[in-house]
Amino acid sequence: MKPIRIAIIGYGKIASDQHVPSIHGNPRFELVATSSRSGEGVEAMFTDWRELLRSVDDLHAVAITTPPSVRHEIARECIQAGLHVLLEKPPAATLSEVEDLACLAEIQGVTCYATWHSRHNPAVHAAAQALAGKRIAEMQIVWQEDVHKWHPGQQWIWERGGFGVFDPGINAFSILTAIFPGAIYVRSADLTVPQNGQTPIAAEIEFGSDVADGPLHASLDFRRTEGEAWTIEIRTTEGALLKLVDGGSRLILDGKEQTVSGLGEYPDIYREFVDLIDERRSNVDVRPLRLVADCLLTAESKSTEPITM
Ligand code: NAP
Repeated sequence: MKPIRIAIIGYGKIASDQHVPSIHGNPRFELVATSSRSGEGVEAMFTDWRELLRSVDDLHAVAITTPPSVRHEIARECIQAGLHVLLEKPPAATLSEVEDLACLAEIQGVTCYATWHSRHNPAVHAAAQALAGKRIAEMQIVWQEDVHKWHPGQQWIWERGGFGVFDPGINAFSILTAIFPGAIYVRSADLTVPQNGQTPIAAEIEFGSDVADGPLHASLDFRRTEGEAWTIEIRTTEGALLKLVDGGSRLILDGKEQTVSGLGEYPDIYREFVDLIDERRSNVDVRPLRLVADCLLTAESKSTEPITM
């Protein structure tokens, strides 16, 4: 079978840590080119993604792993050029941009795949099954990490469209919207924003849901210095306690660790990308991004000391 010739646009941390090995590890793909303004990359390297699109023959697909603020412009031109596109999370800076891409992909007959890597943990699927049909007594999300450790030098996070603490926080929302047994909506969001930034460094969020009887809370914070916490704890009205820990990779039910196995987040993303391309389907779920947008719509914001990167 002819390989799917793919290029990566935006060659930074996640491209080199995850996308390159996952593409190399999937026999259906051939990685042919990369683009970053600084010239970092592998295979045929470009400093201008438009030049890449003009120069690489017989290109079928692209993975766009830039910061989200520029993803719509790049993805739009790629889709118009007839390419299948894989979007890193968050898929774009706004809901209307993502909806435009999904619509354009349908018109062009190509695949648009908005990925949510945290959902590709088998523990997340097991959690969804465990919660199906249940009522929820309470929920606590704690998604906290040291921005200096996990995002060194990533100034874009503090700029307009950079998402701030919602850059990791949207991973929690992607899991939440995959496992919660009913609709969930934002009631309030208290945001803390550095004086020299455009995006929050911390967020305390209250959710509501018709399938919940008690508090549903999320605490996102980039100022944590002692390790990191990426946990979702949910108690059902029947008294069962479900804990997803380590970013959705481990599931503990009533104190008992569950055995789960799978391909791994990014290899599973590329497995699904092949299926979508083969079937000429798209997968664009905007619910995690909508929760972030709703936090920003309902936000009460206060400013805090400037951030130094
Ligand atoms: P990063 O290390 O800062 O890399 C971003 C890449 O995009 C770099 O190649 C950068 O290179 C390029 N870029 C930046 N601005 C650009 C622009 N205006 N036009 C074209 N290219 C541009 O960031 P990252 O951590 O890889 O994150 C990228 C995306 O992946 C984000 O949406 C993030 O949420 C997601 N993600 C990250 C992680 C992680 O662990 N880091 C995990 C999962 C998902 P040049 O400046 O040289 O162009």
